[in-house]
Amino acid sequence: MIFDSDLLSNLSIKKKRLLARVISIVESGNETSIEILKKLYNKTGKAFRIGITGPPGAGKSTITNQITKHFLSLGKTVAIIAVDPTSPFSGGALLGDRVRMNDIGMLDNVYIRSIATRGSLGGLSQKAIDIADVLDAAEFDYIIFETVGVGQSELDIAKIAHTTIVTLVPESGDAIQAMKAGLMEIADLFVINKCDRPESSKAVSSLQSSLHLRYFSNLDWQPPILKTSAISNIGIAELVKSIEDHRKFCANNESYLKSRIEYTKERIITIVSELVKKEIFTDSLAISNYTLEEVINGNLSPYILAEQILKNYKYNFINNNNSNNPIN
Ligand code: GDP
Repeated sequence: MIFDSDLLSNLSIKKKRLLARVISIVESGNETSIEILKKLYNKTGKAFRIGITGPPGAGKSTITNQITKHFLSLGKTVAIIAVDPTSPFSGGALLGDRVRMNDIGMLDNVYIRSIATRGSLGGLSQKAIDIADVLDAAEFDYIIFETVGVGQSELDIAKIAHTTIVTLVPESGDAIQAMKAGLMEIADLFVINKCDRPESSKAVSSLQSSLHLRYFSNLDWQPPILKTSAISNIGIAELVKSIEDHRKFCANNESYLKSRIEYTKERIITIVSELVKKEIFTDSLAISNYTLEEVINGNLSPYILAEQILKNYKYNFINNNNSNNPIN
C-alpha cells in the first residue's frame, strides 16, 4: 500500500480524515502499518489513557459521554476507542443510544473509533493499543478505552490504561460476576452507577466489605468506590477528581512503574511472536495437509511436528544468511 509518510507529521485532531485513514491502515496490521507505528512512536507518551469496563448495560457509554464533556469543558481533547460489541460507540445499540453517541461524536475536540470485534480473536487488544499510539501521537489529551468486561481484551487494556474504571450497578449479582471475570484486580476506581435506583447505598457498602477482605489489604492505592448517576451527571465531577488523584499517585509510585516495565516486556514479546509467526508461516514451512493428517491419526505428536518446523526454519535461516553474506 502506498502511503506518504510525510503526512504523519500533520497528524492531529484537526485532520480527522487523515487520522481515520492512518488508523484504518494500523487496524489492518499490514507492513505499512508497522512502518507507521515505528515512525510515530517517538511522538507518543503524552496522552492520559483511561480504561472503562464493566458488564453490558452498566452505563459505561453514558459515563464515557459525561466525562468526555467534563474534559471538553476544561479545554481538553478526547479520543474514545470502543472495543465493546454492545457499545453504542461501536454501533451495537438501539436508536436511542446512537443519538447519545452523536451527542459528542460530532464535536471538534472529540474523536471516536470503534474496533471491529468480529474475526479478530485474540488480536483485539493489540489493535486497540496500536490505535491508541496513533491517537497519542496526534496529541489528544485523553484516550478512553471502553470495553465490555467479559474477556481477555479488557484485562490487557487495563495494563496499558493509566487508570482503569470498573463500572457496576446496584444489583447484587453484578459484583459477583465481575469478580469471576477477574475485573476486581484490575480496578483503580470502582463506580456504582445508576445510584438513582434504590439499594445503591447497600451495594456500595457490601462491595466495600468484600473488596477489603479479598483485595485491598496490601495495596498502596486503595481503589475508591464512587457513586454516580451518569444519566443525570451526578457524581461525574467526583469521578474526574478521582481519576486525577490516581494520575498523581501513579506519577511517583514505584510499583506502578514496575508494572509499566512488566507490561512493556509483554508487549514486546507479543510483537516478536507475531513477527515470528508471520515469518515462519509465509514461506515454504507452511504445514501440509498430509502432515496434519498424520497428527490427527495419532502417528505424529503435535509437539514433534512443532519442533521439526522450528528446526527447519532455523536451518533455512542460517543457510540463506550464509549464502547472502559476502563475508562468509
Ligand atoms: P453500557 O452498555 O455499559 O455502555 O451502558 P449504557 O451507557 O449504554 O447504558 C445502558 C442503559 O442504562 C441506557 O439505557 C442508559 O440510558 C441507562 N443508564 C445509564 N446511566 C444510568 C443511570 O445513572 N441511571 C439510570 N437509571 N439509567 C442509566
